Amino acid sequence: MSFPTFAKTDRGRLRSKNEDALLARPDAGLFVVADGMGGHAAGEVASALAVETLERLAGRDPDTATLADAIRDANAAIIGRTRENHELEGMGTTCTALLLRRDGYTIAHVGDSRAYLMRDGALRRVTVDHTWVQQQVELGSLTESQARHHPWSSMLTRALGIEHEVEVDVMEGDTAPGDVFLLCSDGLTAVLTDDDIADTLRAPTPLDTRGQALIDAALDGGGPDNITVVLVEVA
Ligand code: CA
Repeated sequence: MSFPTFAKTDRGRLRSKNEDALLARPDAGLFVVADGMGGHAAGEVASALAVETLERLAGRDPDTATLADAIRDANAAIIGRTRENHELEGMGTTCTALLLRRDGYTIAHVGDSRAYLMRDGALRRVTVDHTWVQQQVELGSLTESQARHHPWSSMLTRALGIEHEVEVDVMEGDTAPGDVFLLCSDGLTAVLTDDDIADTLRAPTPLDTRGQALIDAALDGGGPDNITVVLVEVA
């Protein structure tokens, strides 16, 4: 079993730094996107801590429970670091992690980074955003398009580093040859619709070309935020 992978993060056109972090360990079937927030470079610290904590799973033959536990460990690590250094107060991060095994996938998730699965030409969003606007979409008070353009679109209802207890969403399923997983930060999905993403992923081009095309499309759309894209194919 092998996992051809494209993984890249781009600062975007407007931000002075990149607070996103990613992990791509095809050897371990482990992939993570984290999107940090907080002043004084604190966002970078939070997302890096999340990725470092998750990477400890590589080579340990992790299962579903340990993936969610690792996200809770990352939460504790971020809170611990904030306590040591008050300049980091208020930092937090999203964390979307994918574990691929021979028999299927596990995704563990907190925040508004996303995981998608492209199968047989159809794109499905696997994660649900932990945002105020997503709650409004579910209640029927906002459309997807209104949510995307809403001034509060990035207001999170759940993130790592905020509270001692964090609820981690866990999704599991089988995998099939040809499946393509996309993990991304909201710098991609704030600019591209799911249809835009699906069109790009359907192109009969190498994985790297499609990954770069997603980043380029977000940049062409203004690149207002850091953009992270991880594409993994089940081969
Ligand atoms: Ca972001």
